[in-house]
Amino acid sequence: MTTYREFHARSIRDKDGFWREQAALVDWKKPFDRVLDYSRPPFANWFVGGTTNLCHNAVDRHLAARGEQNALIYVSTETDQEKNYTFNQLYREVNRFAGILKGLGVGRGDRVLIYMPMIPEAMFAMLACVRIGAIHSVVFGGFASVSLATRIDDAKPKVIVSADAGSRAGKAVPYKALLDEAIALSKCPPGKVVLVNRGLAELPMVAGRDLDYATLRAAHMNDEVPCEWLESSEPSYILYTSGTTGRPKGVQRDTGGYAVALAASMKHIFCGNAGETYFSTSDIGWVVGHSYIVYGPLIAGMATVMYEGTPIRPDGGIWWKIVEQHKVTTMFSSPTAIRVLKKQDPAFLKKYDLSSLRLLFLAGEPLDEPTARWIADGLGKPVVDNYWQTETGWPILAIPRGVEALPSKFGSPGVPCYGYDVKLFSEIDGAEVGADQKGVVGIEGPLPPGCMTTVWDDDERFVKTYWTSVPNRQVYSTFDWGIRDKDGYYFILGRTDDVINVAGHRLGTREIEESISSHPNIAEVAVVGVADQLKGQVAVAFAVVKDASKIATPELKLAHEGEVMKTVDAQLGAVARPARVHFVNVLPKTRSGKLLRRSIQAICEGRDPGDLTTIEDPTALDQIRAAIADR
Ligand code: ATP
Ligand code: MG
Repeated sequence: MTTYREFHARSIRDKDGFWREQAALVDWKKPFDRVLDYSRPPFANWFVGGTTNLCHNAVDRHLAARGEQNALIYVSTETDQEKNYTFNQLYREVNRFAGILKGLGVGRGDRVLIYMPMIPEAMFAMLACVRIGAIHSVVFGGFASVSLATRIDDAKPKVIVSADAGSRAGKAVPYKALLDEAIALSKCPPGKVVLVNRGLAELPMVAGRDLDYATLRAAHMNDEVPCEWLESSEPSYILYTSGTTGRPKGVQRDTGGYAVALAASMKHIFCGNAGETYFSTSDIGWVVGHSYIVYGPLIAGMATVMYEGTPIRPDGGIWWKIVEQHKVTTMFSSPTAIRVLKKQDPAFLKKYDLSSLRLLFLAGEPLDEPTARWIADGLGKPVVDNYWQTETGWPILAIPRGVEALPSKFGSPGVPCYGYDVKLFSEIDGAEVGADQKGVVGIEGPLPPGCMTTVWDDDERFVKTYWTSVPNRQVYSTFDWGIRDKDGYYFILGRTDDVINVAGHRLGTREIEESISSHPNIAEVAVVGVADQLKGQVAVAFAVVKDASKIATPELKLAHEGEVMKTVDAQLGAVARPARVHFVNVLPKTRSGKLLRRSIQAICEGRDPGDLTTIEDPTALDQIRAAIADR
């Protein structure tokens, strides 16, 4: 058996041989002439000259062997609906949707913006786009009109696909009014809008522009639309980053490289097999939804669960009930979601038969040790932390258990996945740093297949944003700060923007947060560096407590603050002790559940909090303001 070390080394040393082998995991209409063209760094073209199609690989190629097996398992606890689609049925629906789009004049290279709740039609629309070579831009359904308008203007879609409403915690969230507002704000309004009417909210139609999906579908019932065979590097989709550090970047993805990367990741990282069931709790509006609700599981011939609802409705056992019912083998969620479950009765983790489940993958944010232990012990299953980005489309760091089940270490997402030549660089001179030294996480070019090929419509922004932090070298910098131990395991310490410099000591916000959250009464915490005349910068913490009675009076609050500080003193030393620990009820986060430290820091320093188009709850910033005004 190959060891992880050999596998990874070969993926870097012999890129041609390695990726040629992986490329056999997907179907090609025309074989590629070359594995890699890197003649114009940092732009990399994978599988040059090969033609393929994502929809063919996700759907059509499975019809013969597993046409009657489930492809899509749809569960909505919002509308109390459950509906399964076999590969044959999914094929039919996608062909109908492709017929609709073609009928509206959408062709190869045209953009289609998808602004949809978690309903099967959203997946049909995505697959229909890639089937006909159109480029989809899925915009998370929770975004309001301004964020939506900027994405419309960036992608210039011919058609928008949307619905009357989403639903959250049992309440309809109307989409149509927001969409109309966004189109009114837009400089490039779409010609047509296709609307799925769920009967949840009013759906006023604009004559000549808005079209009813059910009517269109009825007219395209028997359409058969052949796959458009795209050259490997032709774009499949555009997707925006979460906007945690500023204006979101429009990530452009290719076709062939993405198909190969996902197929390989299903085998080597997720250990998923055809005929099994994959359940990712993400949303199609995020990269995890693209890669591991839609394309990855289907390419592997697995059934995929699409879930509309919260993790705690009707109760905190709903996800585990789904696992039992559909014999889920592979599950993917986020630390943020697990922290929500942690506030529920732990008995829910034991209530259902989870014997089918092999692995739980968590990504998106640092996974702190208490949360990791709570869920791993509660389920009695291995938890696999994995670190990646919208930009890369699949994990950079993980334990690739399909290659070798290396032991995991708490607090570390693991080791570099094959294809990624990960290194740490000094911010001062760009020199590589060694084991146990902190540095900027970088990836030596070329990026492996599946990663972003450029910023949509802006090659210059791609080069400037990602490839200029290490002088005279083609290194992709990820804006994350980390450290590697002697065994080659990485630990992510925060964003490079979040590195705090206290009297000459460099500290990652993550380190201090990790320490604070080990205090038994802390549910969640954000630490930022705030300018200080004396020390340069000081750390300031904002924490959410589990038991509010411990901070019920100003005296108790002060005592609790002191206690938290002592925890940091004991673990990291007084130099890391936050100057203040403020208590709040909620922390400002992006819609994808990431802490907006940048905005907290700006408020602490009396600056404008910046681009807030992706914030979940704007009132969370008022709490920060109130907390620092207090005392
Ligand atoms: P933007 O780039 O617009 O500021 P973002 O970086 O939050 O937003 P995403 O692509 O959704 O957008 O998130 C990727 C980032 O999330 C990573 O760069 C890293 O900072 C963080 N992250 C993801 N997974 C992990 C993990 N397992 N451990 C620690 N951090 C993680
Ligand atoms: Mg980012």
